[in-house]
Amino acid sequence: MQTLLRQIPKTDKLLCALNTVLNAPNQTLLKKLTAEFLESYRQSLLQGGEILSLESCVNCIAKNYQNATQKSLKSLINATGIIVHTNLGRSVFSQEILQEIAPLLTRYNNLEYDLQKGARSERYIHLQGLFKALLNAEDVLVVNNNAAAVFLIFNTFAKDKEVIISRGELIEIGGSFRIPRVMEDSGAILREIGTTNKTHLKDYENAICENSAMLFKAHKSNYAINGFTEEVEFEELTNLAKAKNLIDYYDLGSGYFSLLESQLGDFEPSLEKIAALNPSLVSFSGDKLLGGAQAGIIFGKKALIDKLKQNQLLRMLRVDKFTIAALEATLNAYLQGKIHKIPTAFMLLKDTKILQQEAEFLAKEIPSCFSPKVIPTKSYSGGGAMPNHYLESFGVAFYAKDLNTLNLNESKLEKYLRKNGIIARLENSALILDMRTLLEGESKRIVESFNALLKGTQCTQI
Ligand SMILES: *Cc1c(COP(=O)(O)O)cnc(C)c1O
Repeated sequence: MQTLLRQIPKTDKLLCALNTVLNAPNQTLLKKLTAEFLESYRQSLLQGGEILSLESCVNCIAKNYQNATQKSLKSLINATGIIVHTNLGRSVFSQEILQEIAPLLTRYNNLEYDLQKGARSERYIHLQGLFKALLNAEDVLVVNNNAAAVFLIFNTFAKDKEVIISRGELIEIGGSFRIPRVMEDSGAILREIGTTNKTHLKDYENAICENSAMLFKAHKSNYAINGFTEEVEFEELTNLAKAKNLIDYYDLGSGYFSLLESQLGDFEPSLEKIAALNPSLVSFSGDKLLGGAQAGIIFGKKALIDKLKQNQLLRMLRVDKFTIAALEATLNAYLQGKIHKIPTAFMLLKDTKILQQEAEFLAKEIPSCFSPKVIPTKSYSGGGAMPNHYLESFGVAFYAKDLNTLNLNESKLEKYLRKNGIIARLENSALILDMRTLLEGESKRIVESFNALLKGTQCTQI
């Protein structure tokens, strides 16, 4: 036994070898990994495991070091056709805008400084002019995300007071955001009205009492009720709230500017249309259809936004210069009609004919033994916007029966592509690459992956 354990290399010897193999490694981490390796090697020998050469030991520890120092967040190719894909980082941020704002982020700036007065100022004013110009909104406030916006608004205006909401809108969205729970935690009292499928204006009217604070509408982001249904439009709610001297608040979820109306206008109103109703408060996400950075954007009456600013909670929910700079530049692109700068908007508006041409080009470049076929597909805006609404698109499909000859099937192919950073869609025994969500240069990377698979260099990984 002792002679067996004597086979274990000395720590110093291993560290010395590792320091020549690895490029300036972190010594603390290297020592920890070496100790861990030696301990498991010892256990393995005691249980009759095989003796390893010094080189194998070094390689093994070096590999563990490389795994431990690899970055976890990786860029991916989204070929699912879902534009605002929550699992894949929501909306893609603009390369062009990132370059534009880089000097603001890597230097000092006037985030909270008034250059005229030479005095302290407020970070939110950088967005005020834009919201005035785009939506004629009195004022705007930005918090960490839309969930925070909802919480802040309830907590400020409805603590121990009733918020009236339709039973058809008591939503839960991904990441465990549930309206009833948010309301409870914010201190607001939930006053649910109507039924799951039908709520009438008179239900709101009948529920109003001296303890009512707010008429609230939540966008049914990720589901739809079809059939025998009725809901009250926000316009009617706004009018009722005005007549009864209550606050009307619409949690819009996504929200889009009218430049995208040609694609989305039939399904729900644009931000401009909602703003024209002169609502008390509206909130939406910065990284859904808007295509900016993660944020909860609140716009509406100045007197109410001033009250929100006085809530201590805002100090905990406030956004930093990254968010303000990203939103300012994104909104400025909308204001100037420079939609091509915003990938989410660009993808939404992309012409089906162009997508077809791109699919045909991709299918031609992929080795023919994979039998790529150009097919019409349905892509989705995603991000909890318009669950029933799809956009006509084109894709390249691979069918199980054709892949058989290569000793592949659609799920093996999906796994291979995924390991190569390409996220595809599986649908009815086929793997589909939807063109709508591909960014510049990504078709080329897809072709390279297929070529590599064919060469068999990575076949063993499957
Ligand atoms: C997405 C969504 C939210 C949450 O927004 P985040 O920006 O993810 O916090 C809240 N309400 C509705 C209706 C939504 O669709």
